[in-house]
Amino acid sequence: MLEVQNIETYYGETQALFGTSLSVGEGEIVALLGANGVGKTTTIRSILGLTPPRSGAILFDGDDISRSQTHEIARMGIGWVPDDRRIFPTLTVERNLSIARKKTRFRRWQVKEMFDIFSALEHLMGRECENLSGGEMQMVAISRALLGSPGLVLFDEPSQGLAPKIVQDVMATIRRLKSEGISVLVVEQNAMSALSVADRVYVMDHGRIVHEGPASELLEDDDLRGKLLGV
Ligand code: ATP
Repeated sequence: MLEVQNIETYYGETQALFGTSLSVGEGEIVALLGANGVGKTTTIRSILGLTPPRSGAILFDGDDISRSQTHEIARMGIGWVPDDRRIFPTLTVERNLSIARKKTRFRRWQVKEMFDIFSALEHLMGRECENLSGGEMQMVAISRALLGSPGLVLFDEPSQGLAPKIVQDVMATIRRLKSEGISVLVVEQNAMSALSVADRVYVMDHGRIVHEGPASELLEDDDLRGKLLGV
């Protein structure tokens, strides 16, 4: 579904990614882990065309998107749940969701299906988003991504700022997306949460992938996990 091939991404003259390659299969959950500032968000920004790579290629469902604009990439079926949620604060939940609807080549979701996933959402529809809790905002951000009919959803630090119980709910939602055939790339500093849902994992350091393998290997091998992730 996603092939990131040897990309080099810069902020001005500062290079942030040095030949990063990774892939996400259909219906697969892949975690991209690593410490602060190693290039995880930059990888997401490169895929979305927000900070396009200077070299290398990014293929999504067979199409080369490395030179595409962000709005084109969204219309092709890549959803994004950003770390800072980026909800319109003065609009209601309903309005935030209704403006997110898009038709792509992938499954179209209805708003009422969001209520099956997040039972609390139905009662929040009339609320202005600036008054929502962190967990409620995350529900809106995930619902907004799904209403854009994605084949792949990129989650940037979905556990950031959330209570442990809400983090568990978010991880359960990621599993649910997989059961619907949606592919997921989840970027996390909270390695244990991400490893609990991921099929495969990449670890980054200084803009490079330094480890790739099944998530079960890192969950079971305490020494390797400690060496790579410090947990
Ligand atoms: P974190 O979890 O802290 O966000 P990260 O792994 O996502 O870390 P990135 O945000 O991708 O890391 O940052 C990778 C490198 O690029 C860092 O050295 C960072 O300082 C740099 N960087 C990130 N954004 C910018 C920017 N807008 N301008 C210049 N440098 C940036």
